Amino acid sequence: MQGFSGDQHFSICIRCLGRAYAAIGHGLSNVERGRIHLSESAPVLSENNISIVGEEHCSICRSVFMRMGDFTDLALTKSSGYEFNTFLVGSTFPKDVSDEETFIQGLLGNRGESIRKEFNREAGKALSDLTGKSVDKAFPDMTFHFDLEYYQVKLEIRSLYIYGIYRKNRRGIPQTRWIHQGNNGVSVEQIIGDVISKHSQCENYFLHGSGREDVDVRMQGNGREFVLEAQNPKIRSINLKAVQEEINRSGDISVDDLNFTSRETVVKIKGANHDKSYRVTITCDGQLDPQKFGQAISQLSGKDIYQRTPLRVSSRRSDLIRRRNIREMVLEQISGNTAICVVRAEAGTYIKELIHGDEGRTNPSLSSEYGSQLKVQSLDVIWIYR
Ligand SMILES: [Zn+2]
Repeated sequence: MQGFSGDQHFSICIRCLGRAYAAIGHGLSNVERGRIHLSESAPVLSENNISIVGEEHCSICRSVFMRMGDFTDLALTKSSGYEFNTFLVGSTFPKDVSDEETFIQGLLGNRGESIRKEFNREAGKALSDLTGKSVDKAFPDMTFHFDLEYYQVKLEIRSLYIYGIYRKNRRGIPQTRWIHQGNNGVSVEQIIGDVISKHSQCENYFLHGSGREDVDVRMQGNGREFVLEAQNPKIRSINLKAVQEEINRSGDISVDDLNFTSRETVVKIKGANHDKSYRVTITCDGQLDPQKFGQAISQLSGKDIYQRTPLRVSSRRSDLIRRRNIREMVLEQISGNTAICVVRAEAGTYIKELIHGDEGRTNPSLSSEYGSQLKVQSLDVIWIYR
């Protein structure tokens, strides 16, 4: 604290005096507290050149509580058009106001509450009366940030989080729009996000997937978990059944189990490490030898393999050697130069590299076990063990 001593003169109102005694007495307004403690505080006030004035002349509150209607009008105008069921109020006051308040409350025994706290509470009550909505301190749909210095209010609108699982029925669709921008604007993120955007009138959206499959890999079986985050939605009570039907009409991807959720689910599904099963179609330049091929498969089944960061992703990931367990590898079909296998592997296994060996960077690989170079013709995720 600095600057408040000696010949300085302050004028405060009964409410701001009462706020200095906020810790004393239940069920009282600060105005009532001010009246109760007026005579008791009089000697300290006069000793420190503090006079009691009306709110319109108070150097702390500067009549903000008398003008509460102006602030709530501002908030309601700004938020008109946005659906919300719960809200919270925050505020910032000029620093000299807080300093002066802290100084005066110090003189009166440090038993007060801040003007911010009273303002937030009173604005909360007023907005609640006007809108019929309730205050939620944990997950408010809407937060009103009042800036008392510049007489403005900023809105913070909680994103809508929609959980679901998706299946990708066609190859060539990236999961998100940012990493494959040349893809004619089609991604899992956009197919889902555009529909949710239309229903919620959000400004932007992001797909948070529980891992991702490559562009050329289909996602089948029980599907992949995701959370679609819709930012600054105008409409929150969207019909998820209608959303689901509309997304599924595209045919390229389908979604299921859509539910409203929270940010915590994003963290949870992003951190998940599940085994996955794949169906992979493998080819060879020459005819495949079924017996030799079967032996190579059983060599890898249940074994650990070592994978250096694949060449195809090495520009964006650090070069490490990862040990991964191939839980099980089963041959489904073999004829001519083509074989179909089902592989269940630990999370994070690079399946294409497991087959072709990535120029020796994955070791052992099916190619090294078989003794000839093998290629992946197609790959599908067929189950995520969650
Ligand atoms: Zn005041």
